[in-house]
Amino acid sequence: MKKATGWLCHRISAKLFYRVTTKRSLSTNPILQSQFSSNMTDMENMKKTAANAIDAASKDLHELSMDIWNNPELNFEEHHAHKVLTNFLDKTGFQVQRHYKLDTAFRATYDTGNTDGFNVCLISEYDALPDIGHACGHNLIAEVGVGAGLGAKAALEAGGHKVGKLIVLGTPAEEGGGGKINLIEAGAFKDIDVAMMAHPTDRQNNIPTPKQMAMIQMDITYTGKASHAAYAPWEGINALDAAVMFYQNMSVMRQQLKPTWRTHGIISNGGAKPNIISEKSELVYYLRTPSNAELPALQEKAIQCAKGAAQATGCNVEYSFSQHYANVIHNATLIDYYRKNAESLGMKLFTPEQCDKASAGSTDMGNVTHVVPGFHPKFGIGSEATTHSRGFTVTTGTPEAQIPTLTQAKVLAMTALDVFFQDGAMDKIQADFKKDIEKEEMMKVKL
Ligand SMILES: [Zn+2]
Ligand SMILES: [Zn+2]
Repeated sequence: MKKATGWLCHRISAKLFYRVTTKRSLSTNPILQSQFSSNMTDMENMKKTAANAIDAASKDLHELSMDIWNNPELNFEEHHAHKVLTNFLDKTGFQVQRHYKLDTAFRATYDTGNTDGFNVCLISEYDALPDIGHACGHNLIAEVGVGAGLGAKAALEAGGHKVGKLIVLGTPAEEGGGGKINLIEAGAFKDIDVAMMAHPTDRQNNIPTPKQMAMIQMDITYTGKASHAAYAPWEGINALDAAVMFYQNMSVMRQQLKPTWRTHGIISNGGAKPNIISEKSELVYYLRTPSNAELPALQEKAIQCAKGAAQATGCNVEYSFSQHYANVIHNATLIDYYRKNAESLGMKLFTPEQCDKASAGSTDMGNVTHVVPGFHPKFGIGSEATTHSRGFTVTTGTPEAQIPTLTQAKVLAMTALDVFFQDGAMDKIQADFKKDIEKEEMMKVKL
């Protein structure tokens, strides 16, 4: 976290620039002048400029997301998506850093030339799922990030505003790879003041604050002893039995878990052949709780399930935890801007109460929101099928999905402009962030 004095400097200079540059742009900039009408404020004009730029690029943006949709790539292998996205951003005037800290990550910057200004980051994801392609719609997330970047850049350029940097950050490997965790550790968010992205979901479910859970991966390996399964099964120690027992232990335990907790997994290795008593078995599980604070309690229960199965079968057990995704902290001030912008474009949003009840998964964006203020809304693309299904893959490649996707790009662009120009925005965002992080720490103490 940055020190308060730094934030104060940022705030004052940006505020001054807003006053000065907005007035100058009103009198001298022909593009802005042509769009003014008597009942529109300066801010509304800038937002309109952003929306117009996104509309003007809609065909190219659609082609870009379809290119990614037609070439689905897995965790850290998103070479095609990296190429087409960086080429696109390069052509549209961003300074592009390819292979930014990770082979398939990138950073595209539009620098307005004010080193005291804020740095606002729009995030693009673009990885797909094994076998079922873009069933999580990350091709649309990529499009939203790039589209929002284009829109906000157009508004800043039109006014000649010197407010800091606008950054489109390409983050690979969300689906279990934790690309953003690697980027955080590599320092990619050190000069970022605010990070935002939006994720598609089913039906018309526009969810500004989905309850994205904390998650950790548990890998379990049982080692037994091989033996002929017909000739001398009594000489073997069956590692598959241990895996099945672990699976059952976890399933039985589920009845006693809080309704907000989730566990689910697969047996990734059950043995070599039916006529060999399994010498080795492996499982991969995800454990999820609403907050980081609750996760250790669930981990401890899972460890007992693993040990119990080992004891019952006589196998040896080894387990490890990795890929810790933090729960998402939605910054209240950012969400307030987001809500107002979305509603101004006619989006019907879930109420806070509906958001609390809506089911959600986990994302490495959660880790980002523990490092810098951010948010991770979901937007409905009209699919009757839910994410991670073949039906959802179909929808993420349809022209119909473009309408909500482009709307979302506009909403994020407008929200980025709010961060740059709304009076005292960064003060409020930072105050929320501080409060949220303190709350997270308090939860850990209580448990
Ligand atoms: Zn997913
Ligand atoms: Zn996803």
